[in-house]
Amino acid sequence: MMPATPRINLFDFDAGGLAEYFANRGERPYRATQIIKWVHQQGIVDLERMTNLKRDLRATLGDETEFRYPEVVTLQESTDGTLKWLLRVDNGNCIETVFIPETERGTLCVSSQVGCPLNCSFCATAKQGFSRNLSTAEIIGQVWIAARHLGQNPKSQRQITNVVMMGMGEPLLNFEAVVPAMKLMLDDNAYNLGRKRVTLSTAGLVPGIDRLREECPVSLAVSLHAPIDDLRNELVPLNKTYPLAELLAACRRYVGDNPHDQITFEYVMLAGVNDSVALAREIVRILRGIPAKMNLIPFNPIPGTDYQTSDLATINRFRDVLVKAGIVTITRKTRGDDIDAACGQLVGRVVAKAARHRRSNLSVGV
Ligand code: SAH
Repeated sequence: MMPATPRINLFDFDAGGLAEYFANRGERPYRATQIIKWVHQQGIVDLERMTNLKRDLRATLGDETEFRYPEVVTLQESTDGTLKWLLRVDNGNCIETVFIPETERGTLCVSSQVGCPLNCSFCATAKQGFSRNLSTAEIIGQVWIAARHLGQNPKSQRQITNVVMMGMGEPLLNFEAVVPAMKLMLDDNAYNLGRKRVTLSTAGLVPGIDRLREECPVSLAVSLHAPIDDLRNELVPLNKTYPLAELLAACRRYVGDNPHDQITFEYVMLAGVNDSVALAREIVRILRGIPAKMNLIPFNPIPGTDYQTSDLATINRFRDVLVKAGIVTITRKTRGDDIDAACGQLVGRVVAKAARHRRSNLSVGV
């Protein structure tokens, strides 16, 4: 038997990519809009139901293309309403996606890689090692699956109002696939989220920050975790490649064009490690001149580390120094920790090409 030509996955295209696909087939560009509306607005992937496409076009699409998205393995619900999907992306690998409902908004936390190569010392995803980048289809597929589930769920009014690229992986290491997925999140004909409602979080990949500013300037969050290089090298090893001075310069450039924008700095509170008043003062000093918001994240315990979370009094003392200096500071509420869905707890199922701790592959929490 002849090997079948692989089908083109229409979930891999944003509006530009889809318009190009149709142009190459002599079709008009508005076909792209039609498909995007069916798939991402209506949640429909059955060509027969796409009634405004000509019959012969539906037939061609049926022969050449497919709509392939991750397969739901499990969906868990936390006592606080947080949802966590375990999604299979290929034979060995699974990723996780989390929905966090709040009174005024619903935030979907999306993964960008299977595992992560950056090896931050306090993060569960790091302990899994790294397998591969996700495709655009696998990234936007997470949004599609969650949107469909929430739309179909009659007992809730819950909607995705915000997306944060804060799940497994370093999104700027997967730029080519992440940007089209984010463009679909922003697209009026797809998820129609404003630029400020889509946030990309990075451990500090400086060239990626500059590229993002040029190609898709969504809200930026930076995982700071320490205001001095020695300590940051330990917590976020990427700092050895892009030290704080370079990272902060990139942050200044990022907001340079849009003075009303702010950068969110994430800071995991580790008892006795990075939570002193002296370090809080140092943060104030290094962030001077950058429109910044601080997000203090109580450390969520993960297996295989000795870190502990700072106590509330210490977190409050730390916060007060920042607030007095005029920096808006929020202590992030821990959500979904009973189902291991909190920050830094996402592990999926990773067939690591570079496992950090071989045994941790066994400790999948599902
Ligand atoms: N690689 C990107 C995207 C991941 S975002 C980045 O580093 O920004 C996930 C956020 O959760 C990051 O701010 C990360 O530093 C934080 N985090 C990781 N492990 C954590 C843990 N155990 N407890 C609390 N926050 C953690």
